[in-house]
Amino acid sequence: MPSTPQSSRFVTGIGINTGKIAGRLHFFHSEQPPKPAKVHRHPREERCRLELALRETASRLKLLRERTLAELSEELAEIFEIHAMVLEDEDFTEALFEALTANTTAEDAVISATDRFAARFRSMDDPYLSARANDIADLREQLLEQLAGAEKPAVAEPQESYILVAPDLTPSQTVTLDKSRILGFVTFGGTPSSHTAILARAMGIPALVGVGELPASMDGCFALLDAAEGRLTLSPDAETLRAFEQSRREENELAREHDRYLRSLINKPAVTRSGHRMLIYANVGDSGEAAAACAGGADGVGLLRTELLYLTMDHAPTEEELYVSYRKTVEAMNGKRIVFRTLDAGADKQIPYLNLPREENPALGFRAVRLCLAREELFKEQLRAILRASAYGTVSLMIPMIVSVEEVRNCRRLLEECKAELQKEGKAFDNGMEFGIMIETPAAAVMCRELAEEVNFFSIGTNDLTQYTLAADRQNPYLASLCERNREPVLRLIEESARAIHGRGGWIGICGEMAADLRLTQRFADMRIDELSVSVPYLLGVREKVIECK
Ligand code: PEP
Ligand code: MG
Repeated sequence: MPSTPQSSRFVTGIGINTGKIAGRLHFFHSEQPPKPAKVHRHPREERCRLELALRETASRLKLLRERTLAELSEELAEIFEIHAMVLEDEDFTEALFEALTANTTAEDAVISATDRFAARFRSMDDPYLSARANDIADLREQLLEQLAGAEKPAVAEPQESYILVAPDLTPSQTVTLDKSRILGFVTFGGTPSSHTAILARAMGIPALVGVGELPASMDGCFALLDAAEGRLTLSPDAETLRAFEQSRREENELAREHDRYLRSLINKPAVTRSGHRMLIYANVGDSGEAAAACAGGADGVGLLRTELLYLTMDHAPTEEELYVSYRKTVEAMNGKRIVFRTLDAGADKQIPYLNLPREENPALGFRAVRLCLAREELFKEQLRAILRASAYGTVSLMIPMIVSVEEVRNCRRLLEECKAELQKEGKAFDNGMEFGIMIETPAAAVMCRELAEEVNFFSIGTNDLTQYTLAADRQNPYLASLCERNREPVLRLIEESARAIHGRGGWIGICGEMAADLRLTQRFADMRIDELSVSVPYLLGVREKVIECK
């Protein structure tokens, strides 16, 4: 339970991130849109106003999402996607229009429908879902603003850095804030999965949520925020301040030391105490990232997402265009291994010029290897480009979304055709280039023994393997906690796959997000996983963890 400022000089809450900060509190005053005077309009006119507000809000959400993606994080940007989903939800729009009777205004309808929806979310047991009531409240404000015909005026912020205090920030508020001067957040309500918490994580600054209401008289008050302790000390005396500063200096020194230690691991092999070596690879999208990964301590690249280049182009790249880019990427590796994953288009990675058919369930649709095998010319352009680039370093080839041995053999056949063609043309390539597949469908995991006979390596795509094993859309944030709580089925599939490929003398890596989950490193070491491929910022943390493993 949060303590109250009346009973002591500090309040407590749930700390987000670690770290200590000192600064003045600034209360964020959420300005309610002015209550419109009741004007009697024709019901049809009210309906038009509501429809227009829905459309305008939808396009504003799109802008907010893009801005968040560019400036903050994907996780936060997803919130605006949830808002857009709610706006498009038939239940929601029906509730809005049903609330619009002959005697109500569009504003009345928005208020009553959003109240009902927010109450429904608030009563849910799952803390993530109940926190989504805040999304509905945010949507309501946005709709009311649109109906009022004006965006909320920007709130004056202090000139110096400050600790932001608010009842709970809505996503659109978090995005429009000038974040350069915010030292930390304190919210009266909120949970570890509320937007303020997500924002604080994205910004890497300390926050305290769920502290209970603070009186407005504390606006401007000097305070000390200790996220690890979950404590906000108000108007500290000289002795408290001195002790706080002392411990902050010590913590900063420890953090710097840890950073120095991590950097000292850059060239140290990741070997567990019992002697199992794991290669720490990086997931990258292009040559720049590949170079940064190598400089940042990667033993190699375990996943080059080749579709990213296709996504940046407005036409299907030619073999020559691909080759130039691939060769540059391979050369950036300075001889370290790089795993090229072939085109993984479709589902969440739609490429307009491929003119893929519209699908009811794109994640279960015509994607990745299915598309490549159906469009052999497109696939062969890529295979030839990868083969040619393989002459300049250590390249492995990996096929995504495999469900059967037949697919693997078809890919092999096309690869052999490409090799024969290049040979005839006198173009160099690495004839011994390793060939592997991603295990990201339950079918592949179940058939791992047969598949292991066809390839040199497996790489586990835990993002998709989780999605398909748990039947939980990876794009749907409502399902995040379900996935978090049910990792065991996925881990067992990984275990089986490791046994199968090791039995055939091959190797196995993990390149989905789970590879960076330090709670699982020991388990992966026990499975004798050979390689973990993670985003560049996680490279050294994972290396450190492997070295600590039994
Ligand atoms: C995965 O599915 O885990 C994976 C690494 O591939 P992507 O995230 O690109 O689908
Ligand atoms: Mg995948």
